[in-house]
Amino acid sequence: MGTGILVLCEHDDRGFKKTGFELLGKASELAAAIGGDVTAAVIGRAGGAELGAHGAATALSASGADFASYSTGAWARALQAIVAAADPAVVLAPASSRAKDFLPRLAARLGAGMVTEATDLRAEGGKVVARRPMYAGKAFADAHVASGLAIITVRPNSFPVGAGGGAAATEQAVSVALQDGDLAARVVDTEQAATSVADLTEAERIVSGGRSVKSKEQYDSLIRPLAASIGATPGASRACVDAGYAPHSHQVGQTGKVVNPSLYIACGISGAIQHLAGMRTSRIIVAVNTDPDAPIFQHATYGIVGDMFEVAPMLRQAFEQLEA
Ligand SMILES: Cc1cc2nc3c(=O)[nH]c(=O)nc-3n(C[C@H](O)[C@H](O)[C@H](O)COP(=O)(O)OP(=O)(O)OC[C@H]3O[C@@H](n4cnc5c(N)ncnc54)[C@H](O)[C@@H]3O)c2cc1C
Repeated sequence: MGTGILVLCEHDDRGFKKTGFELLGKASELAAAIGGDVTAAVIGRAGGAELGAHGAATALSASGADFASYSTGAWARALQAIVAAADPAVVLAPASSRAKDFLPRLAARLGAGMVTEATDLRAEGGKVVARRPMYAGKAFADAHVASGLAIITVRPNSFPVGAGGGAAATEQAVSVALQDGDLAARVVDTEQAATSVADLTEAERIVSGGRSVKSKEQYDSLIRPLAASIGATPGASRACVDAGYAPHSHQVGQTGKVVNPSLYIACGISGAIQHLAGMRTSRIIVAVNTDPDAPIFQHATYGIVGDMFEVAPMLRQAFEQLEA
């Protein structure tokens, strides 16, 4: 049985992602209770000393051409080698599309227990207990892995980024022996979407529009500027996407993206169960809807009964004045 906590720290062209900082801060708190050190796992690049500022004592990395771009088999093998080197009791990872793809494979291979989509973590009886939403967010379950290695994925924005300021982490390269089939697919090129805002799944603020925006032009002139006024990422209901007002990449919900922002502003969205499934754990939900009986109001922290074509520009103006 291992000790300590290993945190998967994802990165992109701009550096390490905030999700890793959130998890390292929480891992430091949990490790103080369950024992052991906090180690960062880095795949696809070397280094990671700067992760010490957020609580990692050591950064174990698997780098090289085989890991430079994402592939399920190679990344599962890389994390397997890092787990073998760190021998942790718990692996924490963001509930990102990559982690959702390769971690179940690793869990099955290692015979580890896995808890997914946690929104809170606590230490109890020497174990990490994860709180996770169930039944499209209607209920929460507390789950822990009874024996052996625990692998837990956590939704972005579940924890604040700590103050930082810790000493540099000790960097250590881990060698990975790939096996036949690990590189069954190889990414030859990627195209970055031209956007300056955070991806929906990691966004701290989201402004979404529903079917009632009525056109792509009105989505672009109402929802996008309101989102831009607070540095939010634009989102949409499925009805809005199906009507062609917003691209599918903006869809929030059961068949879209699961989001967990601090602030979710829903404009002209009724609050169908399939939409709620994707945004119900948002910390603050603001709903703008003409119908006072719209189901979204049962879940909203703040509700505005009104026409979004009047309310959204007023909100935007107020936000812009605050930013100025
Ligand atoms: C298998 C399955 C999967 C699905 N997956 C998803 C999913 O991932 N995401 C998702 O969103 N949906 C999903 N849906 C669809 C879902 O059931 C709803 O149909 C959809 O969410 C409705 O979108 P909406 O709220 O924009 O539209 P509507 O339900 O039509 O609501 C429009 C709302 O706008 C309000 N309104 C009208 N005019 C104004 C105005 N001027 N100002 C303010 N408010 C106004 C109305 O009062 C109403 O509440 C799925 C459905 C199925 C069956």
